[in-house]
Amino acid sequence: MMPYEVVIGLEVHVELNTKSKVFCGCSTHFDAPSNTNVCPICLGMPGVLPVMNRAVVESAVAVGLALDSTVSKWSKMDRKNYFYPDLAKNYQVSQYDLPLCHGGSIQIEVDGVNKTVGITRVHIEEDTARNVHTIAGEGNGPAQSGVDFNRSGVPLLEIVSEPDIRSAQEAYAYLAALKQILQYLEVSDCNMEEGSLRAEANISIRPVGELKFGVKTEVKNVASFSGTQKAIEFEVARQREILESGGTVLQETRGWDAARAITVSQRSKESAHDYRYFPEPDLVPIALDAAFVERIRASMPELPQARHARFKAQYGLNAYDATVLTSTKAMADYFETTVGAGAPAKQAANWIMGDLQALLADSKSDLAACKVSASDLAAMIALIEHGTISGKIAKELLPAMFETGKAPKKLVEEKGLVQISDSGAIETAVRDAIEANAGPVADFRAGKKQAMGFLVGQVMKATQGKANPKLVNEILTRELSKG
Ligand SMILES: [Zn+2]
Repeated sequence: MMPYEVVIGLEVHVELNTKSKVFCGCSTHFDAPSNTNVCPICLGMPGVLPVMNRAVVESAVAVGLALDSTVSKWSKMDRKNYFYPDLAKNYQVSQYDLPLCHGGSIQIEVDGVNKTVGITRVHIEEDTARNVHTIAGEGNGPAQSGVDFNRSGVPLLEIVSEPDIRSAQEAYAYLAALKQILQYLEVSDCNMEEGSLRAEANISIRPVGELKFGVKTEVKNVASFSGTQKAIEFEVARQREILESGGTVLQETRGWDAARAITVSQRSKESAHDYRYFPEPDLVPIALDAAFVERIRASMPELPQARHARFKAQYGLNAYDATVLTSTKAMADYFETTVGAGAPAKQAANWIMGDLQALLADSKSDLAACKVSASDLAAMIALIEHGTISGKIAKELLPAMFETGKAPKKLVEEKGLVQISDSGAIETAVRDAIEANAGPVADFRAGKKQAMGFLVGQVMKATQGKANPKLVNEILTRELSKG
C-alpha cells in the first residue's frame, strides 16, 4: 500500500453573540418564534440601507488579535452572489479580497507533540435565513417548507486555517483549541447543536513526498467535533480507496450523514468566480485606527495558553491539573477565586477537579449555576486545614453545600459534623477497638502492618467518621506498642 499524506484545512463559521444583528437592530435571540426578529433590512427588501454593528467589528478584532492575526487598517464588505431560498437578497454580504484579519496561528498538542497551525484569514459575514421543513402528519397537515428569517443577518466570523492539518486528531485538537479561545473571549456560546459553531473540512491526500496537493473534497453538516474527526477519517479512507484502484477523486462538496457514518456527495464545487464578488456599495469600508485596536487588546482576558503557563509557574500545578483547570475560563476563574480566598492551590485544584466536577457532571450542571461559591469552597478547605473536620467528613459536606448553597460552617453546626480532636474520647474508642479485635491486633504485633488500616477503620466507624484521623493513628500506634 502506497503511503499517503493527509492534507486538511478547516473553515469554521462562528455566530457572534452580539445583542443585535450585523446590519440592523433586530435581536439575535435564538429561541424566538419564527420570523419575529426581522425588519426590512434582514428580510432583504429593496432600497434599505444596512449599517455595520460596531460590536461585531470589536469581537472580530479581538478574535484576530487572539489568533496573532494582522488586523487590517482598512477592509471592506463584498457581495457574494448566489441564489438560494434562504437568501432573499440573492447575495450574502461577506468579505472577499480584503478580510478584516489575515495570517496568524493556533497552537495544538496531539499525543504530547506541539504543533502550530497557520490561520489564513478571519472575516466578517452575515448568516443566511434558515429553511424549515415539516413532515406531513405531525398535526401540521401536508408536508411544508418555510423560511425562518430570524437567523438572517446574525453576525458570523469565518475563520480559515492553512492546509497545515495532517490527521483527524489534529483537526479535533485545532477545533477544540479554537473553541476554547472563542469562549475565553466570550464572543460566542460556540453551541454546535444550535449551529453557533460550524466546521467544514477541506480534505485531500497525496503520496508522501509529493508537493502538489491532491484534489480536495469539502465536508459539511457536521454537528460535533467528534463527528468532524469521524467524517475526516471516513473521507481519507474513501479517497485512498479511489486512488489505489486507479480512479480520480472529484472536487465536490460532501455532507456527513451521522446516522450512517458516511459522507454523501452533495454538489460539485463551484469555483470562486462563480459568485461574482463585488464591493458592497451600501456599506462604508471598515477603517480602524491604532487606538481602536489597542483598546480592544487591552480589554481582552488572559488567553488559555498564557493562563496554563502561569498556573504551572504561580501555583506549582502539574501540566495535567493546569490543563483541566484552564479548560474553561469559568473554571480557571473559580480556581483563582478559591485560592484568592485562602485555600492552598493543590487542595483547591483537587476539590474542584474531583468532587465538585463529579457533582456538576451528575447534576448535568455547570459552574455558572453552582451553589457552592468559590469562597465557600475555600472556607470548607480551611475547616479541614484547621482540623475542625476531616477530609472524610468534607466529602459528605460538599454534596450538602452543593444541594443547599449553605455555608460550610453552618452545615457543620447543623449536622454536628465537628471532628473529634479530644484525645480522651479517641483513647476510649481506640481501647474498645483493641479489645474487640484480638485477631487483627495479634496480626499487627506479628508484623502484619496492614492490620493497622483495619483498626483505624474500626475507630472511625465507632466515631461516625468524626475522629481526627491523625490523632487516631498516633493513639492507636502508641496503645499497640504497649502490648
Ligand atoms: Zn433586521
